[in-house]
Amino acid sequence: MCGIIGYVGYRNTIPVLIQGLEQLEYRGYDSAGIACLSHKEDNLFIVKEKGKLSALKEKIGDFDVDAHIGIGHTRWATHGEPSRANAHPHTDATGRIALVHNGIVENYAVLKMAMQKKRIRFESQTDTEVAAKLIGTYYHKKTSLFDAVKQAIDELHGFFSFVLFSKDDPDTLVAYKRSNPLVVGLGQGENFLASDVTALLPYTRQVIYLEDDDLVTLTSKSVSIYSLKTRSWVKRRPTMVHWNVSQAQKQGYPHFMLKEMYEQPEVLRNILSKRLTKKGDIYFDTVNKKFHNQLKRVKQVHMVSCGTAYHAGLVGAIAIEKFAHISCRTQVSSEFRYGNPILGKDDLVVLITQSGETADTLAALREAKAKGAKTLAVVNVVGSTIAREADAVIYTHAGPEIGVASTKAYTAQLATLLLLVFSMAKMRNKISKEDFHLMVKAFKRIPEYCARILREGKSFERCARKHSSRRNFLYLGRGCNYPTALEGALKLKEISYAHAHGYAAGEMKHGPIALIDHEQPVICIAPESSTYDKMISNIQEIRARDGIVIAIGSEGNKDLEKMSDSFFSIPKAPEILSPMLTVIPLQFFAYRMAVLNGRDVDQPRNLAKSVTVE
Ligand code: GLU
Repeated sequence: MCGIIGYVGYRNTIPVLIQGLEQLEYRGYDSAGIACLSHKEDNLFIVKEKGKLSALKEKIGDFDVDAHIGIGHTRWATHGEPSRANAHPHTDATGRIALVHNGIVENYAVLKMAMQKKRIRFESQTDTEVAAKLIGTYYHKKTSLFDAVKQAIDELHGFFSFVLFSKDDPDTLVAYKRSNPLVVGLGQGENFLASDVTALLPYTRQVIYLEDDDLVTLTSKSVSIYSLKTRSWVKRRPTMVHWNVSQAQKQGYPHFMLKEMYEQPEVLRNILSKRLTKKGDIYFDTVNKKFHNQLKRVKQVHMVSCGTAYHAGLVGAIAIEKFAHISCRTQVSSEFRYGNPILGKDDLVVLITQSGETADTLAALREAKAKGAKTLAVVNVVGSTIAREADAVIYTHAGPEIGVASTKAYTAQLATLLLLVFSMAKMRNKISKEDFHLMVKAFKRIPEYCARILREGKSFERCARKHSSRRNFLYLGRGCNYPTALEGALKLKEISYAHAHGYAAGEMKHGPIALIDHEQPVICIAPESSTYDKMISNIQEIRARDGIVIAIGSEGNKDLEKMSDSFFSIPKAPEILSPMLTVIPLQFFAYRMAVLNGRDVDQPRNLAKSVTVE
């Protein structure tokens, strides 16, 4: 939530800030703003605008400001409506300090009241302005901005990161991180700060992921990090980022989501090439021997995640019980965290998150660690907080995902979790050598199958056209494709704003069947599986009530095709691998529905990627 960028160096600042915000806009897009220090006028130049970044860009227009230090922000409001006044940056009472913020200052109301009593005036409803004004009260002639932040920070409760600078010190950015992500980009004669590395890729691949309670001073030539945790200056090792700029661009596709959907075969191929040894064994480069041995002894697994990643966890849980014979619970992070889970040293908590910064999942990780459980993060963003804090991490290697609705990150999570399951099944002797090799062999075909489904784009378009004006959809699946039904429904809701409900098909007769009439489309996920016949019975029940059947089934299934109003086929694959395929027609359907309804596919209303508030 919220994208932050900071720059100090030899370049003209405004274009750097705007380019950075363009990459970060997926994190929030209800308003945006920048502040920089104009060389000539020795003045803070602040521009803010409600709405998308394009509105800010238009407002900045051709302003010719020669500035070499600045900060920028794209907002996802938590405190105060999206408006120009509430947009960041915010300033202190003297107008010398400008500050951008990601997160929430929980005690802002008390602090605000205390400052109002001292006649400090506020111009916005945000918690952010309270932080800016508070820091201002500590910023005197003999105090540096760094010291002012250091003194003020103890008074601020909550989880956040800040970047700020003062017009009195034209070569220094100060930043603080507590929970919300902040990355330093290292340059030559310039340095950067951003919420996410994608904003830094055009300039540098050398980055430092800040840790909680790091207070940083950044000049064009130096980076100094003081840890408020250890009360000492610290050195943090730079990391080399392997993503490149073009991966984070649309490359001719109308939307990031579509581009990312088409990247799925390549992502899966890449995962398999990283995870399979020449002998056909499964290998995780980031899991050490000690953790590997612990995996052998685990008695209970918990899959913990949010949103789309929760659906990947559901598939992982089914697979781990079936193949590795370990009992597994799946919970959304926010419920797990506050549900006082019973955990101990024999429990493995698997935390699944694309960004590695999801606030609820981070809180769940900390809870699990505090209770002595082993923790394993399944994460896309290398070096992210959850990746660093978990006992072990397995990266999903999906590359940058910019579209708010997750697609390739989901299939990458599925592939990674399934490989983990098969590797655990093998190390615990729960799968025969032959079955293991057959599964690996079948897995290797998945990328090509995935590509085959993607080539069917036109038929999804036709189906979406037929139903584009409908506002209510039911998704049904069983077994490992019940999570697919949930994921398909979530995709449609997120980007087309049509109501969609995912249900376990067997539960239909316990309620949802009341919805079925000639106007109710039901998306039935029915590939070859152990519950296929049961799915067919459900489809018959829908037809008997005149419902509209949109079916996803295995290639060549003429019977199912005849039973359906629309039919999408997927290549035949072992049941447990099928969720990596069945989800693709559903992504397509949601995408087309959103486009046909004129929705903003990559930045749907009210949403943001990387949810860093609880
Ligand atoms: N709380 C701040 C605001 O509402 C920042 C929000 C965020 O980081 O999502 O402006």
